[in-house]
Amino acid sequence: MNPTHFLSLPSVARLTRAAAAAIAAGALTGLLSLLAAEAAAASESRPLRVICFGAHPDDCEIQAGGVAAMWAAQGHQVKLVSVTNGDIGHWREAGGPLALRRKAEVEAAAKVLGVTAQVLDLHDGELLPTLENRRTITRLIRDWKADIVMGHRPNDYHPDHRYTGVLVQDAAYMVTVPFWCPDTPPLTRNPVFLYFPDSFRKPNPFTADIVVNIEPVIERKLDALSLLVSQFQEGGANGGPHLVSNNPAQQAERTRQVRESFRNRQKNLAQRFRTEAAQWYPAEKAATLQYLEAFEICEYGRRPDQAELKRLFPFF
Ligand SMILES: [Zn+2]
Repeated sequence: MNPTHFLSLPSVARLTRAAAAAIAAGALTGLLSLLAAEAAAASESRPLRVICFGAHPDDCEIQAGGVAAMWAAQGHQVKLVSVTNGDIGHWREAGGPLALRRKAEVEAAAKVLGVTAQVLDLHDGELLPTLENRRTITRLIRDWKADIVMGHRPNDYHPDHRYTGVLVQDAAYMVTVPFWCPDTPPLTRNPVFLYFPDSFRKPNPFTADIVVNIEPVIERKLDALSLLVSQFQEGGANGGPHLVSNNPAQQAERTRQVRESFRNRQKNLAQRFRTEAAQWYPAEKAATLQYLEAFEICEYGRRPDQAELKRLFPFF
């Protein structure tokens, strides 16, 4: 009997193609999980790579300067990106010269913290969540081969903060998609995405999922922030001539005031997140911690468990 009575040649061919496809799909799935496992293993044996996105040349330094210095001190790689160039962030000056001044300020601060600084040449106050900007953020995350990505929450007071948050969120899955920005190799392992803290309550308040004691580097962080003279000693966009003096003693006093105001800011964060700190530090220690930085885990990137968080934040 001709077997093709049971199974015609065209159907054999179809089955063979289907089997080949199934085998290929199985092999591809196996290969992908092998690659992901290899990427995970490789990422655990190399220094961590962290990239932070702030809207302006000072946001990353304020929000994550402490933990950045702590990672850097352990040999991990940290990049602080300002998504705009800060060119309207002063009461007296604006444009290209201010952008250059602020770039020099964050580069000097980065040296103190032991990290890399980058300022994108986008106008301050004009950031929009465009496709072009989404591509830029995607490429930066991929090029840095980031394990951790940080940014603002998308409900923040400043439009540049909001759209930086949206852009980073929009990249949170797309960094793994090969045909999105195919000019830059995709990440085989989705990074953990984290939000900076803020005090806005609508539509939902910040949750301190990770709390880090930055006391070992607090003076270093304050040193770095005191180099951002245009923003703090001179008051940035809402400052004024009353903050500027040619008298060295008055300048020194102003720098001291700025330093103490940031010291108090960190102390206030410690008060605010003391309960959450007790999940990371022994109760007696948590009760006395003075200087904390806190972060919320974004729902869109990789969701780390407690063990992975302790590997990503090797400070506890
Ligand atoms: Zn800002």
